[in-house]
Amino acid sequence: MQSISTGSKEVLDLTGRKGLIVGIANEHSLAWSAAEHFSNAGAQLAITYLNDKAKPHVAPLAEQVAAPILMPCNVSVPGQLEAVFEAMREQWGRLDFLLHAVAWARKEDLHGRLTDCSTEGFAESMVVSCHSLIRMAKLAEPLMDKGGSLMTLSYYGAEKVVDHYNVMGPVKAALEASVRYLAHELGPKHIRVNAISAGAVKTRAASGIEHFDELLNETMRKAPLRRTVDACEVGRAALLLASDYTTAITGEVLYVDAGFHIEGMVFH
Ligand code: NAD
Repeated sequence: MQSISTGSKEVLDLTGRKGLIVGIANEHSLAWSAAEHFSNAGAQLAITYLNDKAKPHVAPLAEQVAAPILMPCNVSVPGQLEAVFEAMREQWGRLDFLLHAVAWARKEDLHGRLTDCSTEGFAESMVVSCHSLIRMAKLAEPLMDKGGSLMTLSYYGAEKVVDHYNVMGPVKAALEASVRYLAHELGPKHIRVNAISAGAVKTRAASGIEHFDELLNETMRKAPLRRTVDACEVGRAALLLASDYTTAITGEVLYVDAGFHIEGMVFH
């Protein structure tokens, strides 16, 4: 695969930019790959971890990119997300970009039919995986008085039925619609809001989806590029959306999926 980074440096420059990454669980996380690209491009990062159990997996990564802010953030714990924004306000006084890479659903909802999804389970998944982006947008707005870039991660199951994606389908659909509404509302303040619809990548979140290997095989069979994607390619797209090379792009869902989403009925 063609490399577009020169050593540990990136071709795109984010020198002096400040960015927040929410959603690193370990070195396989899509958000970690993005963090590496942001950091190699010269950005300073605030990184969060879910809880004490996650901290030992995330702290060494934060150290690797010399993140000056490392804080706990479970979006369901009142005050934790607000505390992260307060720390950024105190240390930086501003924020240039953020990556929301958070998704969660109860196991029974992830593995069961949408038809059987409980009110509580549906609401919890929506609050964690979708409304948290809206909260981040609200908290970021005053820190982005010179504009900024908000990014989130979605999946093709938002748009078409994907077997075993279950409740996450409607949740990601709501997330993509929220991207468009936030982009509409924040555009006049030069704040861009975009989603990256990533192809299937083996991560911890992905391991919660049943028959995930079949999904990977189907991608390889059907995608125009005849392969799956890797976290690095998703991270690179995030770098692009954080950079000044995409200043006219907002409200967009950018597919980083080897072209999988364009195929309808295919016979190969
Ligand atoms: P991952 O498990 O590495 O990341 C998921 C993250 O969500 C974890 O860091 C976890 O701590 C965080 N999270 C869950 N509940 C949270 C909460 N209450 N508060 C704060 N954080 C919480 O897996 P990933 O695949 O890198 O997932 C990142 C994003 O990418 C998700 O939105 C996922 O839906 C999306 N995505 C993944 C794929 C894939 O195939 N891996 C494809 C398309 C989109």
